[in-house]
Amino acid sequence: MEVDTICAPATPSGSGGVSLVRLSGPKALEAAATIGGAAIRQMTSHTLRLCTLRDKDGVIDQGVVSYYAAPHSYTGEEVVEFGVHGSPYIVSRLLQALLAVGVRMAAPGEFTQRAFLNGKMDLSQAEAVSDLIAAENKASHDLAWRQLRGGVSNEMALLRERLLEFASLVELELDFSEEDVEFADRKRLSELLDEMRRKVEALRQSFLLGNAIKDGISVAIVGRPNAGKSTLLNALLHEERALVSNIPGTTRDTIEETWQTEGVKFRFIDTAGLRQSDDVVEKMGIDRTLEKMKQAKVWLYLFDVNTQSEKSAREEAAAYLSNVAPETSVAPPETVAPQIFFIANKTDQSQQVPRRDKDLIYLSAQTRVGMEYLEDALRSIIPSLAADTQAVILTNARHYEALGMVQTDLLKIEQGLKTAISGDLLAIDIRSALHHLGLITGEILPDDILGNIFGKFCIGK
Ligand code: GDP
Repeated sequence: MEVDTICAPATPSGSGGVSLVRLSGPKALEAAATIGGAAIRQMTSHTLRLCTLRDKDGVIDQGVVSYYAAPHSYTGEEVVEFGVHGSPYIVSRLLQALLAVGVRMAAPGEFTQRAFLNGKMDLSQAEAVSDLIAAENKASHDLAWRQLRGGVSNEMALLRERLLEFASLVELELDFSEEDVEFADRKRLSELLDEMRRKVEALRQSFLLGNAIKDGISVAIVGRPNAGKSTLLNALLHEERALVSNIPGTTRDTIEETWQTEGVKFRFIDTAGLRQSDDVVEKMGIDRTLEKMKQAKVWLYLFDVNTQSEKSAREEAAAYLSNVAPETSVAPPETVAPQIFFIANKTDQSQQVPRRDKDLIYLSAQTRVGMEYLEDALRSIIPSLAADTQAVILTNARHYEALGMVQTDLLKIEQGLKTAISGDLLAIDIRSALHHLGLITGEILPDDILGNIFGKFCIGK
């Protein structure tokens, strides 16, 4: 199949600076030459040339043309870039001129998709490109960069190598089974299996940190109506955003606010008061509260220290927890049990001194006395990146999910070994594990996966 040549603006135009228009595909140089002059055909790879760019109506602009010959380019194809004056009119006229000579507009992420399809990077690295662009702070930028440099890819290659060694040992057994030869290296088999399981487990664990850095840590503020949830949120954000009132059940909708500390974003969810209600509108709020509680990594369980005991708050939280608890050991990340802090609020009206006692924090949201204990508690749950700057950390839910399937496969293989099932059956589970690993790097490509991943990119990347 012939690959067509694509073009797209690679920088936002109209910024007044320089705009970049990128071309990739077999006809890139030829198309550029029809607009920038025949001399472009003679350009050598990785050089620049100042050219006057023309369409049928005359001069478009004077710009710098750069040329990267295949396969030594971002996409692995012939690539030409035009650096022109940053004007939406110039960029659009240049694109029109390119379309007129048979080039087509690139789809979102198509340059990176071609880089992947041409073997310039694997799928996890291609995904890191969009993470890198989206990174808003140093920590998430660091992680995307590590992934782009091949961190995840290397781990997958290592696991694959171990699986293949495992498969060849099992095959050996198959070959000799008829001669009733004692299995050569059962010890090595279980060593390999242990190593793989530990690695997969560690990678899946790392997702908690990776996901926190990339998407933030969601914190649900929960408790009975009038416990002081909205007041607490305001105190945390140091501003008056949430609705505060002394009529129970007034915070009916959910409000989301963020607070950044140490490169990690906390996303606070203020929720409708939790209590049985006959009021339809309030009921909807409660349903939404439970939904949010399910997704939150942290619960701040708030109670009025003057009207509710710690014991009763703990019982209520436990009851909610049993409603939203994960069902399996390889549950998706959003169902991992939350960490709970209990907040004994309104100490200003009681004999209690603001303080922290492990997961129990005494404070007054209204006077803000004791808020530092809560802020410290929240900071303490940020897992440390500094500990190991080389560690591979998963940030991608798709990878996390695929590794969950690998984990299940490894479990089946282990059980198979224990019950001495036949090598043929073991081989099925080994193949399944290899398949699931391949989903991460893109050796296995289900139909819709490329569209899903690259569709989220911006045009020109
Ligand atoms: P929510 O229903 O849980 O969101 O509770 P609100 O934040 O709306 O607070 C309910 C009432 O309790 C309001 O009148 C607040 O001013 C009051 N309140 C909240 N926190 C405190 C506190 O620390 N001390 C005192 N004395 N009153 C508080």
